[in-house]
Amino acid sequence: MNTVLVLGGTSEALALAKELAHEPTTKVIYSLAGRTRRPSLPDCAVRTGGFGGVEGLAAFVTENNIAAILDATHPFAAQMAAHARDATARTAIPLVKFLRPEWNEPADAPWLHAASPAAAATIIRDRFGRVFLSSGLADIAAFAPLSQIWFLVRSVDPSEAPATLAQHHHVIDRGPFDLAAETALLRDWNIDALVSKNSGGDATGAKLAAAGALGISVVMIDRPPVPPGLLYDDLATTLGAVRDILR
Ligand code: NAP
Repeated sequence: MNTVLVLGGTSEALALAKELAHEPTTKVIYSLAGRTRRPSLPDCAVRTGGFGGVEGLAAFVTENNIAAILDATHPFAAQMAAHARDATARTAIPLVKFLRPEWNEPADAPWLHAASPAAAATIIRDRFGRVFLSSGLADIAAFAPLSQIWFLVRSVDPSEAPATLAQHHHVIDRGPFDLAAETALLRDWNIDALVSKNSGGDATGAKLAAAGALGISVVMIDRPPVPPGLLYDDLATTLGAVRDILR
């Protein structure tokens, strides 16, 4: 039996873990940071919570006789990606990374690019009045000083974080979101700008098409750099790479 540690927290990680768990000679341990209250889980061993940095992850790899790590975390989970790279280097086991493709910028409606949530806050500060903040609860603090802006915030779980914004409405909803619903949301709340991370993927991409159709400005937080290594952007090739390693 070969044991694969799947670093999860995305729909693709879930799909990859489910596929690998079907293999008779593979044991899968699916790992979550523990940010979501009711995460979707594969039918395999699951562990939750940080490992305790590179040291902790390297120790986990050794103690659990991990044969390979598949990092399928979110494109903005840069710290976990760096820790996976460093821990696999230290323990001399293979690392495969799945990274979903970025969303493409429409040629006829260029985005305003930001390198960070703080940079996005600077961009919107004097330009917009009613902003759909879809970049995630973890980054809300960067927007809290903008008391003159009204924010629409959406999250999977209830949270106190939006309350740090002077003017806001908080919607609790879980994707996937379709174009009709996203268009209605932006129109009904009279939104004039959308702030998003370039997460990629189908589940939350409709907001961009809706913004385009309504002529709403998009402020896009660009992805952090990716550590070097085996990198794939489709599920079949990723599975093939992991299977090759375990063969
Ligand atoms: P991060 O900044 O890269 O990670 C921070 C710390 O959280 C890591 O150093 C690690 O703690 C722990 N961690 C992260 N992912 C983990 C995993 N899969 N299993 C065990 N521990 C994990 O990542 P993040 O932005 O906090 O994201 C956390 C999780 O949420 C990721 O799994 C990611 O796929 C998911 N997610 C993130 C976003 C986003 O926008 N960032 C969006 C959707 C989903 P230790 O150092 O103690 O090991």
